[in-house]
Amino acid sequence: MPAERPVEKLQSLRGLVDLLPAHTPLWQRVEATAREHFRRAQVDEIRTPLLEATELFARGIGEATDVVGKEMYTFTDRGDRSCTLRPEGTASVVRSAIQHGLLSQGPQRLWYGGPMFRYERPQAGRQRQFHQIGLELLGFADPRSDVEAIAIAWDLLAGLGVDGLALELNSLGSSDDRARYRQALVGWLEARSDQLDADSQARLVSNPLRILDSKNPGTQALLAGAPTLADALAPESRQRFEQVQAGLQALEIPFQLNPRLVRGLDYYSHTAFEITSSQLGAQATVCGGGRYDGLVGQLGGPDTPAIGWALGMERLVLLLGQIEGADHAARPPDLYVVNRGDAAEAAALVWARGLRQRGLAVDLDASGSAFGKQFKRADRSGAAWAAVLGDGELADGVVRLKPLRSDQNPEGDAGAGEQLVPLADLAAVIQLLA
Ligand code: ATP
Ligand code: MG
Repeated sequence: MPAERPVEKLQSLRGLVDLLPAHTPLWQRVEATAREHFRRAQVDEIRTPLLEATELFARGIGEATDVVGKEMYTFTDRGDRSCTLRPEGTASVVRSAIQHGLLSQGPQRLWYGGPMFRYERPQAGRQRQFHQIGLELLGFADPRSDVEAIAIAWDLLAGLGVDGLALELNSLGSSDDRARYRQALVGWLEARSDQLDADSQARLVSNPLRILDSKNPGTQALLAGAPTLADALAPESRQRFEQVQAGLQALEIPFQLNPRLVRGLDYYSHTAFEITSSQLGAQATVCGGGRYDGLVGQLGGPDTPAIGWALGMERLVLLLGQIEGADHAARPPDLYVVNRGDAAEAAALVWARGLRQRGLAVDLDASGSAFGKQFKRADRSGAAWAAVLGDGELADGVVRLKPLRSDQNPEGDAGAGEQLVPLADLAAVIQLLA
């Protein structure tokens, strides 16, 4: 036996957050709305494991990114394999599509949702376990698919009642465009490297495009004069980008061009976008995405153009919480069962179960306390009706149904509106409550 120690208070790990019952109704509303929007757009759900071989993310996201370089939860399992808790969804979805030959069955319209893990500094809107909902359109090359993907995200957010959103748009061009731009940018920055912050100096070698994304104000000021990606786009890339913009205009989705927008992950090409809210402070991006034509090939699949996005649930829920002021109250039961006495309590359990099996939401008081106390709880539950089952009712083979809300009994008469129903007649209860 281990030596006796004082019992320490057990707590969740830093940055891993419990979702308490007061908050789950809002999450469920977001999830249901997302599901409905995906149904309308004919997008099917895919679920992949939370744990993957580390190599998937190293190859699929890139060693030079913050996500792979600094933020992954990686460990060796009992079989000596390096495993990683997924930091994002795209690499897993693509792995799965390749593994199961989905891509040979034609273009795939997929969505996923669930927890992601990144070892970051926790703050409002930034956690170590967080949740995303994401869309991946695999096998779609046309600029219209970029517009469609963005429209699905935009309409989903609008459908939830979030406003004050801004769509920022950029084109990262083809890999040739990026290689050309990278050279121009590195040349320009090397001549000014003494003015760069330490992080950006390191990125000059590892991942120079990410410097554009720097949060350092000095670096941002310096970058105002740097060459832009837009100048490096080949005519075909530029034309493609214009088609995407025209498509968004046709759908009346407003956007701003942001030549600094590069996205954190390495596999993006052409369209890159973010949807931001001014209500979120420093963690402003609710949804980010773009085209990743190179990824499927890079992970060993057939060359497949693709576009997708992921939205951050915590940030979205923060926004919705601000709009709605408070979390939704839990839905009240249809019926609150007040019951007391050994035989009556046993009968109440059977009766409540029968009603639940027929679809009613039934709150069964399990306290065995005095009727008065149970009635107080019945009132607080928000139920429209209380059902009373004591030994007297049981002896008569009935249940007494009492309306609880004043609108059912405006005169406030004691006993008004009460109904006796036979204990065995569940249909009568359902009819009465309908
Ligand atoms: P950021 O710049 O905020 O770190 P990112 O570029 O790393 O974002 P993506 O990988 O594009 O984020 O993920 C898409 C979305 O997921 C983000 O726009 C954000 O809403 C959400 N998200 C990303 N990381 C976190 C996190 N640690 N906690 C909560 N939400 C997150
Ligand atoms: Mg990040």
